[in-house]
Amino acid sequence: MHEMTVCLSLLKQAEEVARAHAARSVERIVVILGPLSGVEPLLLDGAFSIARKGTIAENADLVCEAGTIRVRCRACGSEGPGSLSSLACTACSSPDTTVTAGRELILKRLELGLPDEDTEAI
Ligand SMILES: [Zn+2]
Repeated sequence: MHEMTVCLSLLKQAEEVARAHAARSVERIVVILGPLSGVEPLLLDGAFSIARKGTIAENADLVCEAGTIRVRCRACGSEGPGSLSSLACTACSSPDTTVTAGRELILKRLELGLPDEDTEAI
């Protein structure tokens, strides 16, 4: 299951960042999901609710933000937006393009639960 692999990788990154900041929990994980990443947000959410158990992100929310598609034309060299229905060049209409953005799944932001300073002072 592709989404589970993605979740485990996200959780690993989140744990590393949380540890670096001495956080006691991860509250929210925001990811940018490219439309061509092949990852279904609903499946990702389902996998995340299983994968997060027992981790520092056990109570974290997973928020998926849609990424954009961009293509670079091999014929005229221009770069422009693409869509799920068309990856052709917007400048010259050539279908010979390279996708430069849209396949990614990026960890955009983490919200960490940091230790309460008052509690820590005791
Ligand atoms: Zn072109």
